[in-house]
Amino acid sequence: MNRQTESVRRPTCIEDQAFASSTPLFQTATFRINESTGEYDYSRSGNPTRCVLEKKIAILEEAEFSLAYSSGMAAIHGVLNLVPSGGKILAATDLYGGSFRLLSRLKKQRGIDVDFIDVTSEESIHEKLNSSIDLLLVESPSNPLQRVADIRRLAKFCHLNECLLVVDNSIMSPWLMTPLALGADVVLESATKFINGHADVTAGIVACNDEKLGALLRSDHNAMGVALGPFDCWLVLRGLETLAVRVEAQQKSAQFLAHKLRSHNLVKEVNFVGFDDHPAFDLHHSQARGPGAVFSFEVANRECAEKVLKETQLFGTTVSFGSTQSTISLPYAMSHASIPKQLAATCAPPESLLRVSIGLENKDELLNDLDEALCPVTKTRGKMVCPSPGGQTHLS
Ligand SMILES: *Cc1c(COP(=O)(O)O)cnc(C)c1O
Repeated sequence: MNRQTESVRRPTCIEDQAFASSTPLFQTATFRINESTGEYDYSRSGNPTRCVLEKKIAILEEAEFSLAYSSGMAAIHGVLNLVPSGGKILAATDLYGGSFRLLSRLKKQRGIDVDFIDVTSEESIHEKLNSSIDLLLVESPSNPLQRVADIRRLAKFCHLNECLLVVDNSIMSPWLMTPLALGADVVLESATKFINGHADVTAGIVACNDEKLGALLRSDHNAMGVALGPFDCWLVLRGLETLAVRVEAQQKSAQFLAHKLRSHNLVKEVNFVGFDDHPAFDLHHSQARGPGAVFSFEVANRECAEKVLKETQLFGTTVSFGSTQSTISLPYAMSHASIPKQLAATCAPPESLLRVSIGLENKDELLNDLDEALCPVTKTRGKMVCPSPGGQTHLS
């Protein structure tokens, strides 16, 4: 069936005598054991509302199997726990800040060896990806720099070395990319982002095709008690029904804004995989169905970036992305503040880099808003704070 149709269809997990049109919310911790069929006893282990969400995600991710977690980080933790103590994880240098924080804990607490790899460099892949590695964790395109990993190629390399390829697909969502179909072993997402899309829930999902991996993940999910609660599952299911139309519309506005900003005289560089001269445009579009709605741009300096952050009216300053409302952030100081010191020199986003996630507002109004925030004159103080990248000033 068509993916768009799938996103509004409800899989069945339990017989519903009332034939409700919306997914019934089973807001319960326990199920009466004597009367039940034995399928459900306790919501940590299984809940029909969660089951509907997990089945639906599995369909959209082209997976046999999926699990819903209380957050994206809980999902990543669940997957990284597949690596035995003393094992080895290889992680892309360009990851979400929270993933770095978690990796450094695993290193300290479980003696897991963590090394970093530039997944866009052939040389780095040959040097670092060998049979001692248990798991490779990547994102593509990376956030906020929009570097693209060749997922098909990494999958081949990983499988030659009996290593698991795990893709954090939060920035694309299953609507735009299905890493399992490209050969990844596990896909995970912060469903807090596009999947739910309304910034009213934190949630994570993990999906895979391998039965043994699936059983291990399910057993941990129950043992650690990290499942998403029924009401949050219900909200994510509601969000999922508009995933296709939201992402398509947000992506269209992002294309428009990224192009406009690129020709703005106060913007140095726009990082967006939607530009046809992006070095990995062809690669990205061979593995994904669009560029997404998140991009980043560089202004003259940190002071200027902070000014834009402060003065924009329609872009809320938040650490997250993928919501119906546009957001802006300074990755250097916010989402990516936990990049390890040894990587900071090469991988930390520049201080003058802003990341935006485009929502469903009117695109012309979003452009005007950014344009005004970029204006070199601070209206309140009436003095120039933000020289153009070329050094000359642009007083309008
Ligand atoms: C937000 C995010 C996470 C963490 O997800 P939470 O739901 O905030 O726990 C992980 N990976 C990426 C790429 C993210 O953007």
